Amino acid sequence: MGDCIYCGRPAGLLRKFHPECKERYENTWNTMIYKAKSSALGLSQMDNLENELRNLAKQGYVPEHKIREAIVSGWEEAVQHFLEDGQLDKQEEEKLLKFIQYFGLSQYELDKNGMYTRLVQAAVLRDVLEGKVPQRLTVAGTLPFNFQKNESLVWVFKSVKYYEQRTRREYVGASQGVSIRIARGVYYRVGGFKGYPIEKVEKVHVDTGMLAITTKHIYFHGSVKSFRIPYSKIVSFTPYSDGFGINKDAASAKPQIFETGDGWFVYNLVVNLARGDFN
Ligand SMILES: [Zn+2]
Repeated sequence: MGDCIYCGRPAGLLRKFHPECKERYENTWNTMIYKAKSSALGLSQMDNLENELRNLAKQGYVPEHKIREAIVSGWEEAVQHFLEDGQLDKQEEEKLLKFIQYFGLSQYELDKNGMYTRLVQAAVLRDVLEGKVPQRLTVAGTLPFNFQKNESLVWVFKSVKYYEQRTRREYVGASQGVSIRIARGVYYRVGGFKGYPIEKVEKVHVDTGMLAITTKHIYFHGSVKSFRIPYSKIVSFTPYSDGFGINKDAASAKPQIFETGDGWFVYNLVVNLARGDFN
């Protein structure tokens, strides 16, 4: 007869746990994350959180080493919450940073699911929407691009798949009403990018390489193709859940598509950089 992995008392023949203990553990764990989340959102005090989580953990069979994990998960959920309800504003960013400092959380811990990167990206988008040149990217090593003196690098994506669309159709993304000539401070929420993947487009995979976004151009560098496109030559952008597409000025130009893995950030970034304030 085995002992219950939660309470340690005999669990009965061929059983590893009491169902009610498992339930208690899961409820406790969810409550812990919820408490951490509301604290990261600034809805409850931070100074008592650790104590509260410790007490909960004891009662709900959650091992003590999981307390930190609950704090990190709560922070991640808070980031998600702020992003889903719209653009991340300065106060929201400050709340999230205060929480990081208070609990001494590392970038490594916070970025295991990419949420720290998302927070930086949201801050970059806010800069751009406010007409500021973002200075939040540090690049290790040299990049294969020949940037111009009067432009600033905003972001770099690695291992980006570059496609050309087979046939020039009427713009699929036009339903979003995006035209850079008239758009002012366009911002699409995270939720708006669900369900429009690049794979649905009829396309040819041309190359895979690095994509750099600057205040004036989109740069691509692959093993076969390298090019630079000024925003002024782009007529429209198409949002995808995993990247973005562009249509250039020339009638003969094929639609070009870049798969970065995340459409929300890159699409909002290029659309707003192209608005004109930075050119
Ligand atoms: Zn038990």
